[in-house]
Amino acid sequence: MAVSTFKRGLRLNTRKHATEGKPVEMVPEPRQVVIPVHQHFGAPNQALVKVGDKVKRGQKIADAVTPGPMTVPVHASISGIVKKIEVRTQSNNTDGVCIIIEKEYPLGEDTAVGSAAGNAVLTDTDFLPPLDPFICTKEDALTRIREAGITGMGGAAFPAHVKFNPPPNKKIDTIIADGAECEPYLTTDEAVMMEKPAALIKGIAIVMKITGVIKAIIGMEDNKAALIPMLEEEIKKAACPGVIEIGLCKTLYPQGGEKMLIKALTGREVPSGGLPMDAGCIVSNVGTLVAIAEAFTLGKPLIDRDLTVSGGACKFPKNIRAPIGTLLTDLPPDFMDIDYPRLRKVLFGGPMMGQAVPAVAIPIQKNTSGIILMTEEETLQDMEGVCIRCGRCIRNCPCRLVPVIMNMNLEADDLDGAIKAGLMDCIECGSCTYMCPARIKLVQRFRVGKQRLRMRQQAAEARKQAAAKAVPHPVHTESVPSKN
Ligand code: SF4
Ligand code: SF4
Repeated sequence: MAVSTFKRGLRLNTRKHATEGKPVEMVPEPRQVVIPVHQHFGAPNQALVKVGDKVKRGQKIADAVTPGPMTVPVHASISGIVKKIEVRTQSNNTDGVCIIIEKEYPLGEDTAVGSAAGNAVLTDTDFLPPLDPFICTKEDALTRIREAGITGMGGAAFPAHVKFNPPPNKKIDTIIADGAECEPYLTTDEAVMMEKPAALIKGIAIVMKITGVIKAIIGMEDNKAALIPMLEEEIKKAACPGVIEIGLCKTLYPQGGEKMLIKALTGREVPSGGLPMDAGCIVSNVGTLVAIAEAFTLGKPLIDRDLTVSGGACKFPKNIRAPIGTLLTDLPPDFMDIDYPRLRKVLFGGPMMGQAVPAVAIPIQKNTSGIILMTEEETLQDMEGVCIRCGRCIRNCPCRLVPVIMNMNLEADDLDGAIKAGLMDCIECGSCTYMCPARIKLVQRFRVGKQRLRMRQQAAEARKQAAAKAVPHPVHTESVPSKN
């Protein structure tokens, strides 16, 4: 099988050996979960439950403040009682409202993890009824995906029902299932493809039916080539040979980026400022496609998450399946033992694009692909120096941007200059930061720059709305009758 790639890219030490090829282990039933009310890219959510309410696993507990397309509900991941609704730190390092559900114990029952009563938290469910995606209407299928709370699980948390309903003027001819998983340490997508190949193929077939697209490619790096025979077998069983193909790409960072994968598998370029649909493609993480299949066949909302827990300060690196809202600190030490004396950094996501967080006790969310517990040796960082104009950041940017110029503009507080230099085309892959000999925190500055732009746009929108409200009533031009 031919191996394709995009131009440029980094050969990183993948550091996947600790969890590569390992099965996914279900965590012991958690005693509590901390579920962020808002977990998607889009309009805000609010809690639908109150403290003291009894909830069942799968029950909707949060949804949009105001209805709209960019909204996705959130569901209880265990059965129990809502103990608190309060602000907690989330995996993106911001504070947000979370619903804390504790499992309920019968009187006198031991509250230790693993007690008999604990089993109920995962078996007492309130799922949706199964729905045949090949018979129902497109509208019903998209509604099912939304009602099941499905967002992109590769990191961006984009609402899946919006992704698979592109505007009519966009001609889509290829669905790409993204199993590249180019971030070091992470092996979640590999585990998903290994353990749920039939659900993956079904998920692809469902989104092909919804979108009317007749070709799909499962894209993966060549370090996962061992999975090909099994996937080909499932494609054959589903009678989809030639319709669903496997595309092998070089193991190169950031091969899993949407733009890079499209280039490698179809040869097409996503235009500057454009989206995959502008290149005729929809790219979806393999885990998201499995979740879509389960939303139809089992009626199961997105309430569990497969992820990799690894890093030098993790004593038992493994791929795990955890109810959304699980805290690693709540897992028993014989399942998840953390070497706290050696722990220096906690990352949600991989080391290139992940988010450093201040504590281990941060809840697992729908888009948490991994938690990396790093030691001093894994995080060694030199002091930031001054730019020596070496151009390495330019030569290694997969989007052909000029990071050094974008950074200079941001340092000079010239946001518009940075945008002109390509800030909004940056996919935040971190390759420039990784290659910079001066250890300049380029990607971190680009993230802050984009955040500033979003705030500027929100402020402009708020001003526009306030101005619209403040428009005086039309002047009454009819003559006022004289008192005389
Ligand atoms: S500028 Fe953006 S896209 Fe280019 S290497 Fe840096 S982080 Fe990646
Ligand atoms: S890699 Fe670093 S030092 Fe070299 S040009 Fe870019 S910002 Fe400057």
